[in-house]
Amino acid sequence: MKNLKKMDKEVYAALAGEIKRQAEGLEMIASENYVSTAVLEALGTVFTNKYSEGYPGNRYYGGQEYTDIVETIAINRAKKIFGCDHVNVQPHSGAPANMIAYSAVLKPGDKILGMDLSHGGHLTHGHPVTLSAKIYKFVRYKTDTKGKIDYDALEKLALKEKPQMILAGFSAYTRNLNYKRFRQIANKVNAILMIDIAHIAGLIAGKAIPNPVPYFDIVTTTTHKTLRGPRGGMIMCKAKYATAIDKSAFPGFQGGPHMNNIAAKAVAFSEALKPEFKKYAQQIILNAKTLEKELKSYGFKIMFGGTDNHMVLVDVFGSKGVTGKEAEIALDKIGITINKNMIPDDSRSPMDPSGVRIGTPALTTRGMKEAEVKKIANWINAAIENHKDKKVLDIIRKEVIKLCKKFPLNR
Ligand SMILES: *Cc1c(COP(=O)(O)O)cnc(C)c1O
Repeated sequence: MKNLKKMDKEVYAALAGEIKRQAEGLEMIASENYVSTAVLEALGTVFTNKYSEGYPGNRYYGGQEYTDIVETIAINRAKKIFGCDHVNVQPHSGAPANMIAYSAVLKPGDKILGMDLSHGGHLTHGHPVTLSAKIYKFVRYKTDTKGKIDYDALEKLALKEKPQMILAGFSAYTRNLNYKRFRQIANKVNAILMIDIAHIAGLIAGKAIPNPVPYFDIVTTTTHKTLRGPRGGMIMCKAKYATAIDKSAFPGFQGGPHMNNIAAKAVAFSEALKPEFKKYAQQIILNAKTLEKELKSYGFKIMFGGTDNHMVLVDVFGSKGVTGKEAEIALDKIGITINKNMIPDDSRSPMDPSGVRIGTPALTTRGMKEAEVKKIANWINAAIENHKDKKVLDIIRKEVIKLCKKFPLNR
């Protein structure tokens, strides 16, 4: 970083601070991860200089010998990981990937049946504040009292509402989905079936949970969550939707692709194809299940009856009388980063909900296993129970730094 350091002291100082923050804190936001040095290197390359509107072999500008190579590598590796017919690696991130997918196959005013947001769905699945909610009509399915998706209710709702699209996928739901049942319901009402695997793509790539690709018409994802690549998005689909998806991405929604980012996606995909990545994905889940068990033993109520994936949703208000916001602040003080989160049909507000969402992908990347997670669960409990006691929080903060130093970031 010697040029940056000389050229721009302000940005360099902020970067240095962020490097230290990441090194000395425990990242437990379920959507975050630490990329490898190879991915970082690919991001910081001259591929950022290039305009490449279009697709490999069919671009608007000249000089595409190497961009074509790198985008084709990314495409082929993604196909190998997920077994999809077609993939578009150009979406800048998860939210644009979803807009691109909706507008590829739907008309304004069409109906999408998606998961209720307080039951785990994502903002881009039709939260009233989003553009997609202004264009499409969203209706909602929910989880039952045991925390599983109520597929019979979903089927009834689909028969009544006759949506053009049924949307699966989530940001704060912790159970595996019944892909087959989604397919049967979509067939009954002749709806396009889409799934957003933004959170779980890495677990699927590592074969730690089942792959939805065979069952769904369209699969959108981010590349930076469990998949552990650069910040970005991606759309996979059946061959019959390939042209519509590509046209919708460019020129429909985006301009030039970010080629440095696509190069970094290709590098991350090569990592995801290695045998070590299978172990990584399995360990993420083992760590999450350990966290679930330990937090339960401290009297926390775990939503959805437990976890099958990389995170737990905890009702901290119902368990300890501490709000999600208070818990988030207390954990920040000990250097554990998490986020407050609504629980199903939360009676509290989104800015100060009843729950917190806690994930294990990032600390698993650092090499932490069950023994470390047990310690962490103990600290989480102690910090929440003593959230007003600065002395206790300071003592735990020191312990967190000690653990982080044992598991450094650079790989
Ligand atoms: C994170 C997420 C997104 C949005 O991704 P961004 O890269 O933040 O735009 C979309 N869908 C789901 C399910 C997500 O979890």
